[in-house]
Amino acid sequence: MSQPQSAAAPVRKPVEGFLDNKKFLHPKFAANYGNWKTHDRPRPGVLHHVSKTGDEVWSIKCGTQRQMDHYTVRNLCDIADSHGEGFMRFTMRSCVEFPVSTEAKVAPLIAELEKNGFPVGGTGNSVSMVAHTQGWLHCDIPGTDASGVVKSMMDDLIDEFRHENMPNRVKLSTSCCEINCGGQADIAVVVQYTKPPKINHDLVSAICERPTVVARCPVAAIRPTIINGKPSLEVDEKKCVCCGACFPPCPPMQINDPDANKIAIWVGGKNSNARSKPTFHKLVAAGLPNNAPRWPEVNAVVRRILMAYKADGRPWERMGEWIDRIGWPAFFEKTDLPFTKHMIDDWRGGRVNLNASTHLHF
Ligand code: SF4
Ligand code: SF4
Repeated sequence: MSQPQSAAAPVRKPVEGFLDNKKFLHPKFAANYGNWKTHDRPRPGVLHHVSKTGDEVWSIKCGTQRQMDHYTVRNLCDIADSHGEGFMRFTMRSCVEFPVSTEAKVAPLIAELEKNGFPVGGTGNSVSMVAHTQGWLHCDIPGTDASGVVKSMMDDLIDEFRHENMPNRVKLSTSCCEINCGGQADIAVVVQYTKPPKINHDLVSAICERPTVVARCPVAAIRPTIINGKPSLEVDEKKCVCCGACFPPCPPMQINDPDANKIAIWVGGKNSNARSKPTFHKLVAAGLPNNAPRWPEVNAVVRRILMAYKADGRPWERMGEWIDRIGWPAFFEKTDLPFTKHMIDDWRGGRVNLNASTHLHF
């Protein structure tokens, strides 16, 4: 249905397709597009690009709290105007880069960012900003607040963000359910539901989309049934994999539980094709408490894995390559993590996964 439009404030037409990014580029980036000769990093958090024409650009990179209110965005824009050259860009991992065309502007810009609480770093062999999934802001399945886990983890790892002391780049991610839309990472923090949903039968007939919820279950564990003379649902708990996908179309399928929601840690994944093919990360710690607001148990395990990798990884080895070299038994010894039956990938449809999993080989 069309919306009434005010003559005083016409509604902007939607922008379809891709925007032309060139008109938003710093003039030196636009002028030297595809014409760069070399680049280096004078210090962590600063990228220095030199073009074939002799033009130079310094990009200063800082971390943010990931989910930003508009006061923070305005603050960053003000810093770009007052200490940069009026340009900034967001990176995939919610860092912000400020390009400037003279070296003299680099140090004052860094000082201003640090003064405003934005740590400068995240380049080279550092720990990247932590990617995280939509969480409670945009998704209806989360078992915890992914952005809170990210904030507490980055507070703990801020020195590793500011310095380039890792064998290679380390990408971290968090996902607030096992669907894991956060993707693969060197270290991934993933929420686990550990119990099947409890059904509030009184509410099912009133607010549940029963055909949708039956269709949504990935293992066909949900069946329509009649309870106390009213349409309801039942769950085959032997089949249920506790994924949480039934909750959005049917809120009476109560799966969130402060005690049963746990956190797992997976390692060695990567999305890129650099040097080796993309790889799935593997489970190495499960059942950690979902202990908001600072998740100390999760932070401790992540730090333990990172420090073992930092001490033992060879130059330019990614986390997964380090583990491939030393083997999984050595990984569990060096990180002092317990190996349990939960780490065996026994999904019956996953012969390929099994073949590539941590402990089983055919
Ligand atoms: S990880 Fe799960 S809960 Fe979190 S945003 Fe993605 S699908 Fe939603
Ligand atoms: S939690 Fe997942 S597997 Fe279990 S009943 Fe719901 S949709 Fe099915």
